[in-house]
Amino acid sequence: MRVFRVITHIFIVLLLTITTQVGGLAYMIYLWLRRYITTLDWKRKVFNFGLFIVLYSLLSFVVLPFLASSFYNRKALPITHSVLQPLRMYTYMMNRHYVDGDLYDVLIHSAAQMQKEFPETKTYYLDGCFPLGAKFPLLPHWSHNDGRKIDLAFYYTDPITKEDKNGSPSWLGYGVCELPKIGEENMPEYCINKGYFQYSLLEKLVPQYKKNDYSFDTKRTKRFIQILTNSGKIKKIFIEPHLKKRMKLTSSKIRFHGCHAVRHDDHIHVQI
Ligand SMILES: [Zn+2]
Repeated sequence: MRVFRVITHIFIVLLLTITTQVGGLAYMIYLWLRRYITTLDWKRKVFNFGLFIVLYSLLSFVVLPFLASSFYNRKALPITHSVLQPLRMYTYMMNRHYVDGDLYDVLIHSAAQMQKEFPETKTYYLDGCFPLGAKFPLLPHWSHNDGRKIDLAFYYTDPITKEDKNGSPSWLGYGVCELPKIGEENMPEYCINKGYFQYSLLEKLVPQYKKNDYSFDTKRTKRFIQILTNSGKIKKIFIEPHLKKRMKLTSSKIRFHGCHAVRHDDHIHVQI
């Protein structure tokens, strides 16, 4: 029984470390402190949970920002900024929203420019990087390990009114794709035929029921990518070739990411 308990604790520590970077440490401190809790049974359960949340929050929102900026020049992207926001809460709750200081500045500036040109426009970020470590991968993205990469959501319009629409058809931020039309280059099909089953896996896992409520906004998405590529700091952008052609984008910074990655017709990958 004791062995089983120890294995469970190790599993929880590993899982929380892989998914949030500091959750495992918060859990270990919690295990150490909880022996001092002597309240009644049901109160103890509530208190235990509260204690873990307090420890995790302290590490995430007080300690990590300090360490990230001191040792890695990384900053947490804003949570409530008027031009740039996380699409989903899990991104910042799990410390997945840290980027290099240079990338931070480019993103704020580019999102502000978008709102200037298209009033009411909010730009949404998805996964960035973890705050600490030079090679600590933000799974499932192996390359998001150094603060120099960020994923951003597309812009959308309302299919009925044709007006600009904030938000996204995906609850995860990923997996709802702007598919190749007939006659367009179809790399997803090519990669799957080559045996790269992971390429379109998310599209199969993420519910598609909101897809018809949003239309891909070619105009704003194109303009945003142009603003990004005009920045000297931005080195590479990944989107599917059929979208690059459809939006008539010509910058050599916009590349195809290869079949070993996942499809990029559901988000934009940007790196410095
Ligand atoms: Zn990415």
